[in-house]
Amino acid sequence: MQHPPKALLLDMDGVLYHGEQVLPHALTFMHAVANIPHLFLSNNPIRPPEAIADRLQRMGFERPPTEHILTSAIATARHLAERKPGFRYYAIGAPGLDAALSRLGKAATEDVDFVVVGEGPGLDFDSLTLGINLILKQGAMLISTNPDASVDAYVDGEHRVLPGGGALVAPFEVATGRKAETIGKPQPLLYRMALDQLGCQPQDCIMIGDRVDTDVAGAQVLGIRTALVRTGRFAPGDPWPAGLARADWDVSGLDQLLALWRRKWPLGFDVDTGLQG
Ligand SMILES: [Mg+2]
Repeated sequence: MQHPPKALLLDMDGVLYHGEQVLPHALTFMHAVANIPHLFLSNNPIRPPEAIADRLQRMGFERPPTEHILTSAIATARHLAERKPGFRYYAIGAPGLDAALSRLGKAATEDVDFVVVGEGPGLDFDSLTLGINLILKQGAMLISTNPDASVDAYVDGEHRVLPGGGALVAPFEVATGRKAETIGKPQPLLYRMALDQLGCQPQDCIMIGDRVDTDVAGAQVLGIRTALVRTGRFAPGDPWPAGLARADWDVSGLDQLLALWRRKWPLGFDVDTGLQG
C-alpha cells in the first residue's frame, strides 16, 4: 500500500465506458495516468483488440497499441498454444474468438485437442452435440474463455442482459460431466499473462474494475492491489458482496480515485516508471 503503482490493469466496460457512452472523468483519468504502463483487460472474447482500440479512439481516448489489449480470447489462444503448439480446436462463440484462436491454432471438427466455448452467438443444438462428442469420444478438453454468468449489453441504446461465458459453457459441462478449464477473470491466468507482459510484480500493480467477483477477487488472489469504481455493476451505496474481500480503494468514480492517489502520493504517481507498457 505504501508505494505508487508501477503499472495499471484496467477493465473497460463499467470503468471507461458503458455501451457507446464514455463515463464521466474517464478521459481525464487516462490522460493523468498516461505515463504509467498499463494494459486493458477484457473478459469479453467477442471483439478483437483492433476493434477495441478503434472504439477507444472513437470515444476520445488515445488509441492504445493492440498489444496493450488483452482479451480472454487472446489469452485463451496463447495459453492453448503453450500447452500444445499448433493445437487443433473447435470453437463455439462469436467470430472474434475464432479469429484469436486461428492465429495460433487450427480450426477443425474432428481430432481436436480443445473444445473452446466463448460468448456471443454460436451455440445451438448442432454445435453442442458436436462439442460434447468431441469431448466424450475423442478426448478433447473443454475450455471456457470466461466464467461470467451474464453480461451487460446495449442494443440500440437499450440495456440488455446477455448470457455470459459461464452460462454458455454450462450445457457442455452438464452433458459431459467434465469441468471446463476457465481462462478469464477471476482466474489467475489472464492476470499472470498481464504481469508477465508488463514485467511487473503483483504488489507493484493496481487493477481497476467495476466488478467485485471478477476484477477485484481475481487480482487479489495474486496479491495485486485493487480499486473498485462504482460506475458499472455497483452503484455508490450498494453493499459489498458478502464473503468477498474489500478492495484497497472503493470509489464512486475515477475522479475520486485520482484525487485519493494524488493525496497519497503527492510527489506524483504518474511519473514514467520505465516498465514495459
Ligand atoms: Mg467491467
